[in-house]
Amino acid sequence: MDLPRPLPAPDDDAGWPGCVGAALPPSAIVLPGGVAAAPRWKGAYALAFTLVDPVAFSYRGAGHSLPPGHYVYAGSAYGPGGIGARLGRHFRRDKKRHWHIDHLTASAGGMTAFAIEGGSECAILARLGALPGFGHVLAGFGSSDCAACRSHLLVWRPPA
Ligand SMILES: [Zn+2]
Repeated sequence: MDLPRPLPAPDDDAGWPGCVGAALPPSAIVLPGGVAAAPRWKGAYALAFTLVDPVAFSYRGAGHSLPPGHYVYAGSAYGPGGIGARLGRHFRRDKKRHWHIDHLTASAGGMTAFAIEGGSECAILARLGALPGFGHVLAGFGSSDCAACRSHLLVWRPPA
């Protein structure tokens, strides 16, 4: 695995990304700014990241642009390599853009990962989506094979 890329925690707005961690089960482990300690076990993860600039990409045949802000994406890794391998990919900037999330992680100004052994990304989305400040931004993003969630990407706006 590539060496982790050191990243500062995105703490430019009060509450971020602590509000993500606070919403997750106590068993969630925090992997701030790197994957050196990422586990081999399988489960779900949340990526809390900050976009400093707008990110434009093609989505379902149309152009989309996400504005700067704080976002959280949830996914799962039950294949070979587990969460460690998956997060290693998310934290690399030079990668083939295979998934839509790759456009965002390649441009993120700061990123923190939370991992939950045996967890479900849909459960993460349900927990976060029930909290004030979190909302879906692009229907179907990351959830094309999921019937339960509107998307697997949330934006977080600090309470006014
Ligand atoms: Zn889902």
